[in-house]
Amino acid sequence: MLGLMQEWPLLCHKILDHAGIQHPHREIVSRSVEGPIVRTTYAELRGRALKVAQRLEKEGYKRGDRIATLAWNTARHIEAWYGIMGIGAVYHTLNPRLFPEQIVWIMNNAEDKALFVDLTFLPLVEKIAALVPTLRQVIVMTDAAHMPQTSLRNAVPYEEWLAEADGDFRWKALDESEAAGMCYTSGTTGEPKGVVYSHRSNVLHAMMACMPDAMGISSRDVILPVVPMFHANAWGIAQSAPMIGAKLVMPGGRMDGASIYELLDTEKVSFTAAVPTVWLMLLQHLEETGKKLPYLKKVVIGGSACPRMMAKKFQDNYDVEVVHAWGMTEMSPLGSLCTMKPDYAGLEGEARLDIEEKQGHAPFGVEMIVTDDHNRPQPWDGKTFGRLKVRGPAVARAYYGGAGKEQFDEEGWFDTGDVAHIDPNGYMQITDRAKDVIKSGGEWISTIELENLAVSHPDVAEAAVIGVRHSKWDERPLLVVVRKPGREPGKADILGFMKDKVAKWWLPDDVAFVDEIPHTATGKIQKTTLRKQFSDYRLPTDETERLPDRETL
Ligand code: AMP
Repeated sequence: MLGLMQEWPLLCHKILDHAGIQHPHREIVSRSVEGPIVRTTYAELRGRALKVAQRLEKEGYKRGDRIATLAWNTARHIEAWYGIMGIGAVYHTLNPRLFPEQIVWIMNNAEDKALFVDLTFLPLVEKIAALVPTLRQVIVMTDAAHMPQTSLRNAVPYEEWLAEADGDFRWKALDESEAAGMCYTSGTTGEPKGVVYSHRSNVLHAMMACMPDAMGISSRDVILPVVPMFHANAWGIAQSAPMIGAKLVMPGGRMDGASIYELLDTEKVSFTAAVPTVWLMLLQHLEETGKKLPYLKKVVIGGSACPRMMAKKFQDNYDVEVVHAWGMTEMSPLGSLCTMKPDYAGLEGEARLDIEEKQGHAPFGVEMIVTDDHNRPQPWDGKTFGRLKVRGPAVARAYYGGAGKEQFDEEGWFDTGDVAHIDPNGYMQITDRAKDVIKSGGEWISTIELENLAVSHPDVAEAAVIGVRHSKWDERPLLVVVRKPGREPGKADILGFMKDKVAKWWLPDDVAFVDEIPHTATGKIQKTTLRKQFSDYRLPTDETERLPDRETL
């Protein structure tokens, strides 16, 4: 027997229709790439997205065509996304922080037919466009007055291109399982892999994201997604904010502490989200200027582990609630959020920070398990770590073109490549990437835990831990540290600070001081490069004469 309820396919443009009808005057404020702050509303944005769709159709783009964007977070970027999806084409966000060769590789893999680009990245596109034979058109997101001279033959200014449409257009009737968007993993190991979101997965993910124990956002919020749309869909905010009619504040290309502070303050932002690096810059700005955050209520921190001192500062010094979150491009991206279940709700001070160091619990729509190397599920005891696997309606079931098959199993579990444990209340804590975990004498050491501890030292700006070859223990931890400007902590200071806070055998065997730690295009520590940099490093604890590497024999 079938249910007798209406078929109402979960299509992304329905989100924008809802925002346009229910919240027509709610604002979207953008720091434009040209400079000034620009204001629009959901009703206007919907009208312009319809024009984008109409215009794309007139150019001959069809369902399933991949249309790339290389752009900052602005209202124009959002309307381009919805316009692309509205004809059944597929938005493909490109991360401008990747090397140009990687961008070319990704565009060719996706066979992008058109590209919406911000002025900032036009010089880059001029260099690479000829290397992408499928690319027919470049739409530069500006108006004729700001359009620079360009060597690209097929480039048009967005505003004039859009002005040729009257907006009298109906969204295409699509199946909810059709592709809506595409984003490639950052490919720190091997080639990037394409993740293809469907309309259904995007809509379900946006609903999950809004729930009180997830991001917990409403129409009364003013949301500043600092996390870029090109990094895992701005954590879904370009869909969840219009779904609930929240005011959006889009930061454009300026993410330094002063610029973000200015928007938080002038637009009275109540909710924001970004990776820890952004918050380090903001906190530094606040400390230097003595400014406060009177309007901000909640900050979501994820993408890499939120250091304990960061959560403490936001909460103690600025009265802002911190929600630590974990996710992946492959999960649309939200996987877990550290909001407080009743068992933890009453905790305060250090006890609360102990919980907030965890990446949190899965919302409805995400199932997770931790397994050992033989695929046996591990107990939820908050200690036993293993490979973290997930499944759900907004989790990838394959990569584009069939890459990375080994990460998916027959039961639908996706192996995240992260190592984690889960506590009896369902709170998951990432201890490492599977490739980074240190195997010392057969036991595992979490590099993330050591890094978090090291950065809580007052003189440490940034820290990374890598495994270095050791003749007795196979691998031992080396702590790599960037000192704060003007501070000179030594090895003994730092290890002394860490000594009583971790198991004795976890303590790094040595500390190396560097000026800079390498980062990936999404702001994570690039451990592969660090490991190469320290491949010949001899730990002071390694007293055995070392045999030459197999490769050098
Ligand atoms: P991406 O797809 O670029 O967002 O990268 C996803 C990966 O980032 C995850 O598999 C984790 O390794 C890492 N990650 C994301 N959030 C966190 C977090 N809160 N703590 C630790 N690692 C994280």
